[in-house]
Amino acid sequence: MQKYEKLEKIGEGTYGTVFKAKNKESQEIVALKRVRLDDDDEGVPSSALREICLLKELKHRNIVRLHDVLHSDRKLTLVFEHCDQDLKKYFDSLNGEIDVEVVKSFMFQLLRGLSYCHSRNILHRDLKPQNLLINKTGELKLADFGLARAFGIPVRCYSAEVVTLWYRPPDVLFGAKLYTTSIDMWSAGCIFAELANAGRPLFPGSDVDDQLKRIFKLLGTPVEDNWPSMGQLPEFKQFPIYHPSMAFTQVVPKLSRRGRDLLQRLLQCNPGQRLSADESMAHPYFQDMSPSSKSV
Ligand code: ADP
Ligand code: MG
Repeated sequence: MQKYEKLEKIGEGTYGTVFKAKNKESQEIVALKRVRLDDDDEGVPSSALREICLLKELKHRNIVRLHDVLHSDRKLTLVFEHCDQDLKKYFDSLNGEIDVEVVKSFMFQLLRGLSYCHSRNILHRDLKPQNLLINKTGELKLADFGLARAFGIPVRCYSAEVVTLWYRPPDVLFGAKLYTTSIDMWSAGCIFAELANAGRPLFPGSDVDDQLKRIFKLLGTPVEDNWPSMGQLPEFKQFPIYHPSMAFTQVVPKLSRRGRDLLQRLLQCNPGQRLSADESMAHPYFQDMSPSSKSV
């Protein structure tokens, strides 16, 4: 810890407090995340430590780099690459207007980061605008990759805020325990719609029931035909049969026809039908981007 000079506090979130800090040797600015664990007196579980150390190997321009893991006195501090701000704060600065090219660029970078981690079988599981960090240069990076698996997602944050359900897919809301990359693809769809609407969340549910109801009212309640295994999920319950509501046009009025098609293919209730990150990057919506901005 003597290696870093703590500067101001940046924020508080799911696992603890984040500080801006400076590496005294290299002068590099970093973000220090002090992780609080529920059973702090037990120390950091070795399984969690192993998971975390694997995350140091994730090196990609759309993933927030984990430089270091400091473990002492049963406390855990993660040293991350520092970014200018998160997507939520960016939305707050927009005043309801966002450039369609910015939407496309951010969405592509989100998918490129997902593709990198998914190809290594690492899931995020807690994608949300606060976990998408951006730089003034227009770069977008995914933060907290793999932390959900290492520590679990608590019901409440360290800061006592309730953990958001807005980006959770129906299968997980119905209690699915087998997590696959498709969980992140649903979240990516929700974030895509929120980007296109300059920060207005697509499904701002207040509890699990309300969350599912909002989803089904827009997309239609899934039935045996399009999601045969739904009834076997641990917390499955019957919802009224809603029919797919008005065309997506009215939900994301600023998005092009191709953009709406991509969105629809991400927001599939049946996880097996959701597009993968690689498939999404190949979607015609991105066809007009320059090859150089699409390189891996
Ligand atoms: P959460 O992701 O649940 O909001 P975190 O503890 O991950 O909580 O982060 C709290 C806040 O700190 C984030 O919303 C973000 O604004 C900021 N933050 C986190 N990591 C970084 C980082 N590497 N660089 C800059 N800001 C960060
Ligand atoms: Mg975070």
